[in-house]
Amino acid sequence: MSEMISLQIKRKDAGKIKSGFPLLKKEAIVNPHVLKKEGQLLRLVTESGEFLGTGYYGKQNKGYGWVLTTNEREKIDESFFINKLSQALAYRSSFFQNLSTTAFRVFNGEGDGIGGLTIEYFEGYYVINWYSEGIYAFKDLILSALKKVVQYKGLYEKKRFDQQGQYIEDDDFVDGERAQFPLIIKENDVNFATYLNDGAMVGIFLDQRNVRERIKDYYAKHKTVLNLFSYTGAFSVSAAVGGASKTTSVDVANRSLSKTIEQFSVNQLDYEDENIIVEDVFHYFKYAKRKEFTYDLVILDPPSFARSKKFRFSVAKDYQKLLEDTIDLTNDNGVIVASTNYSGFDMKKFKTFIDGAFKAKGERYKILEEYKLPKDFKTNPHFKEGNYLKVVFIQKA
Ligand code: SAH
Repeated sequence: MSEMISLQIKRKDAGKIKSGFPLLKKEAIVNPHVLKKEGQLLRLVTESGEFLGTGYYGKQNKGYGWVLTTNEREKIDESFFINKLSQALAYRSSFFQNLSTTAFRVFNGEGDGIGGLTIEYFEGYYVINWYSEGIYAFKDLILSALKKVVQYKGLYEKKRFDQQGQYIEDDDFVDGERAQFPLIIKENDVNFATYLNDGAMVGIFLDQRNVRERIKDYYAKHKTVLNLFSYTGAFSVSAAVGGASKTTSVDVANRSLSKTIEQFSVNQLDYEDENIIVEDVFHYFKYAKRKEFTYDLVILDPPSFARSKKFRFSVAKDYQKLLEDTIDLTNDNGVIVASTNYSGFDMKKFKTFIDGAFKAKGERYKILEEYKLPKDFKTNPHFKEGNYLKVVFIQKA
């Protein structure tokens, strides 16, 4: 990491980097052959050698690395990381004080100045996500910086990059003391069971916190609720706590049954009063239509890409169709919570799918409200793709 390599940036991208765009896109690089080892620090320059910034080489599907600073005098050393981390912590100080919510994101990649790195807090434990081999090369520096700015009970990590076909079976534990699992966290006074030691997904997606709260406090009471692509049933549990008359959760993964039972149970809700269905959503649509099932509130939060035995799905192509099927299962005056975390299109485009779906069904609708990422998922204003979450509450008129 000592010797800095000069990476030339094409003219039209140089201006963007100067003004704060954080990603090193493959197409922006003039001399990619100098990139040899992930984790290399890069002196970013124009083709005529003018300084633009300092970045690092780290391959992600998004690009070849990230800009760390546009200040020529700023060194990438432990105090750089201490600064970034303490700024990020200060920005979330109200979260640390909130006793009703004990899990949130403390560092959000490029939104907090270091692309490829996220850190989440769960009841005194921290989970670091490394999104490339390149950022992982800074592990020692980042860990020693983190130790200086927080006191943790324990530290876990997720390596979210290809490890050359090698999968090292471990429990992701890094330092401190191991947690007891399930680790029960609170979110707006609802309990959630989490497992920081069991693969990339810990049991809850923290970016939907405000949506879950809104469903619980405003939309769920006395309503029948259908939760599609339900994972551990977090939306269902929020609805049930909020007084839903019955929830139905549908997910194709076998694990979703026991995970969803557990989420109800840790909230003293009887899972036998709820419906938990392990099935392909596309099959469920057919089944529910045949049985003429309809619901007051339908939550639709698919993965960006999915493949099942019979179907291949990508939100970019298929969201409208998915919504059309959802509309069929929604009662008149019922509400659809349409959600996507796909960064490839924006809210405007998302709304064209919504409009298209209702038109195709000959139904009218009203958009009630919209949600984006919560405050702890800080975004970079120069990097629109980082603001990926789009949630729209739609009433079928
Ligand atoms: N809505 C969830 C997160 C969804 S994650 C939440 O708020 O917590 C995506 C989920 O979709 C995964 O659990 C995966 O098992 C499920 N899934 C993927 N393809 C599916 C399909 N064809 N039918 C049903 N579930 C599917």
